[in-house]
Amino acid sequence: MRVVFLERWKKKATMTDSRIQLTEEDITGIKADAIVNAANNSLLGGGGVDGAIHRAAGPGLLAECRGLSGCPTGEARITKGYNLPATWVIHTVGPIWRGGTQGEPELLARCYRSCFSLVQELGLRTIAFPAISTGVYGYPKEEAARIAIKETRRALAENENLASIIFVCFNNDTRLAYKKALAEP
Ligand code: ADP
Repeated sequence: MRVVFLERWKKKATMTDSRIQLTEEDITGIKADAIVNAANNSLLGGGGVDGAIHRAAGPGLLAECRGLSGCPTGEARITKGYNLPATWVIHTVGPIWRGGTQGEPELLARCYRSCFSLVQELGLRTIAFPAISTGVYGYPKEEAARIAIKETRRALAENENLASIIFVCFNNDTRLAYKKALAEP
């Protein structure tokens, strides 16, 4: 299964670091061990990637989310993937951008760390992330990408079980932001 997955990504992804990949497609179509949802504190669905994930997963996802009683900003919760090709959905709540002086960088970094902590606990190997907080929540794309890459490099160094981290760039600005962050040491 891992071989099939990697073959697929060879066609669509831009290779960067060996276990970090960028792609431009809808995250709901990705067959990873887990896809990450940029959720809100209620975990009951919303717009953007959250809405797309709930639509594609079907009502089972919302029913499971109802039992979780929400999620504080910076933390993460895991559910099954239901009708999605991904086995699991990791829901994390990014910070709303308020100019950068309200602890946003630390909260965004905490989102990635919370996701990677669940990933390690469950022994997952392939994970796809959207650009958390950079849509409706307004986080500047380049700064967000820098945090995503920094925390991912840390996780890759600590968890040799990780096979592939995919950053789903839904638009060209996002892809450029990740490319820039990956070019930095
Ligand atoms: P947030 O509220 O955390 O900002 P959004 O869903 O508004 O979350 O946006 C987060 C990122 O997800 C944005 O870069 C947006 O372009 C992207 N996005 C929206 N829909 C999808 C999708 N179906 N697949 C992948 N990324 C998506």
